[in-house]
Amino acid sequence: ERRAALAASTGPGATSDGHKVPLLANVGGPADVPAAVDAGAEGVGLFRTEFLFLDDSGNAPSEEKQIEAYRQVLEAFPEGRVVVRVLDAGADKPLDFLTPSDEPNPALGVRGLRTLLDHPDVLRTQLTALAKAAEGLPVYLEVMAPMVADRTDAKAFADACREAGLRAKFGAMVEIPAAALRARSILQEVEFLSLGTNDLAQYTFAADRQVGAVSRLQDPWQPALLDLVALSAEAAKAEGKSCGVCGEAASDPLLACVLTGLGVTSLSMGAASLPYVRSTLAKHTLAQCERAASAARAADTAEDARRAAQVVLSGE
Ligand code: PEP
Ligand code: MG
Repeated sequence: ERRAALAASTGPGATSDGHKVPLLANVGGPADVPAAVDAGAEGVGLFRTEFLFLDDSGNAPSEEKQIEAYRQVLEAFPEGRVVVRVLDAGADKPLDFLTPSDEPNPALGVRGLRTLLDHPDVLRTQLTALAKAAEGLPVYLEVMAPMVADRTDAKAFADACREAGLRAKFGAMVEIPAAALRARSILQEVEFLSLGTNDLAQYTFAADRQVGAVSRLQDPWQPALLDLVALSAEAAKAEGKSCGVCGEAASDPLLACVLTGLGVTSLSMGAASLPYVRSTLAKHTLAQCERAASAARAADTAEDARRAAQVVLSGE
């Protein structure tokens, strides 16, 4: 039993009946890599590249500086996947030299991919740096765009990746309800989806993620959010593609089981949460996760959804 517990705390993510759910780490730069490796991450599911741009006040970092930082992260997971998110500037992550300062609603303005499409030189440099950083490495590189709203956005991003000569899978983050509703259309242009549940909750409930007074609506157990997760995962399955979660939702062990039951194919989180999610997932079968997911979606409130899932998962 001890050996089983140990294996469950370090091995690859899976349900008790062997349904694999790769457990990946969210990193904000090379400094986060050791903790991810120690926690047994199977790769990186969200590499937030903003740190590079915050360091260089007033300018985008040079291609050389980017290559160096990307290579450090890629080299740490020689056999694993590394999902790099291109710059997500704006709203809660403003950058003076890229983010418009006169927007009445920055969260609804030019941010994420929108910023990059307005500054194609910044996107090109980043994609070229990624292509060069991955050269000669066996790593399985995936590159995704934040704040993709529709197929037009997804195509613009995929075109930019191809033009930069990037040999990687291109993906779209699902952070805007429209993207979840039309996930199949977006998947005509890209090869995978990754749910950013922090922003997806913000936009689904019109509840600013930085405003504590509306935090009730930011709860990732909200059944409406679970519905959008299910829609995205079903679309990916129908297209034979993957759909991960890289928002905070993935780090709640119980919710991780529910997400698995909804059809999510990988979970990415801060390294500290990996052991708990791994051991909880290993205690339940896929069928139990699916029943917990159905019970949660049948609820009317976040609280009831959590309780319903808990009843299903602890009662068996
Ligand atoms: C998210 O929105 O869920 C996400 C993963 O991206 P960030 O938190 O960096 O906006
Ligand atoms: Mg986001």
